[in-house]
Amino acid sequence: MDISPKTQLFAVLGHPIAHSLSPLMHNASFNAIGLDAVYVAFDVPPEKLMGVLPAMAELGFCGINLTVPLKETAFLGLADIDESAQRLGSVNTVKISSGKLTGHSTDGDGFLTSFEEEFGCSVKGAAVFILGCGGAGRAVAIACAYAGAEKLVLANRNRARAEKLSSEIAALGINVKIQVPDEPADWVPACANSDIVVQATSVGIHGDESASLLPAEAFRKGQMVYDLVYMFPETGFMRTASKPGAAVANGLGMLLHQGALSFKIWTGKDADITAMRHALETKVFT
Ligand code: NAP
Repeated sequence: MDISPKTQLFAVLGHPIAHSLSPLMHNASFNAIGLDAVYVAFDVPPEKLMGVLPAMAELGFCGINLTVPLKETAFLGLADIDESAQRLGSVNTVKISSGKLTGHSTDGDGFLTSFEEEFGCSVKGAAVFILGCGGAGRAVAIACAYAGAEKLVLANRNRARAEKLSSEIAALGINVKIQVPDEPADWVPACANSDIVVQATSVGIHGDESASLLPAEAFRKGQMVYDLVYMFPETGFMRTASKPGAAVANGLGMLLHQGALSFKIWTGKDADITAMRHALETKVFT
């Protein structure tokens, strides 16, 4: 990689940031399509973000990704927010053009693109059980509502968080039924009755194969089960769901596609998906 004063600059900011795979996949795509660009990572705490972003624009950065816990800070702090970020109330992509910063979100579309790629159908008309209503579960739930899901079942350890998300989605005025199960004991039948299951908690990120918040009785043949955890080809949740015959996928495709969509927003060019996927799979699965 030859870096010169003409090299375009991109970065991901988060706190912490050492775990991020975004530099790996974006630099793979820059190299594959021959773009003179480099993507780096910086640890930025939330209270510094709105000072750092204009400074990066001054330094000539062209695009920035934001990860936990900066997405909502950017949404509240940036003056210019496009529709994708308005919908989710969070920003994971900042485009910088002629010194102007615009906030976007590719999280929802990244999930939907990956879901269709994995299962060959969309979420339209489906009953979707979402386990975990943190930042990622929230993005998935809102994206599914806008994409025409018939029903959302929102399950969260801290039930108040699921209720808050339910109220937020209801306020969007989308035609979608929303259910928040009363007790964790109600999660199993509610999950078994759903067409799609999305595992959006952080359980499973340490690779414990037995880690599954739901038992095999919660799953059935014909269901599509997507675990947002992307560090393992098969998580404990996926393994459990597979037993009665559900189709399963892990979250690597969401990571890939939200990144590819950011790439397109910044550069106007299609990312090299094959190079990005190869870089991610080599790092994560070997
Ligand atoms: P977050 O905002 O911190 O939310 C964490 C969620 O996990 C909350 O719903 C939390 O429930 C739940 N949780 C944590 N420990 C639990 C436990 N022991 N039992 C039950 N629930 C538990 O995190 P996030 O940003 O939403 O990320 C969630 C997961 O999605 C992570 O594994 C992350 O790596 C993954 N993710 C993947 C992608 C991708 O591109 N594939 C993108 C974003 C995130 P409470 O509210 O009760 O604490």
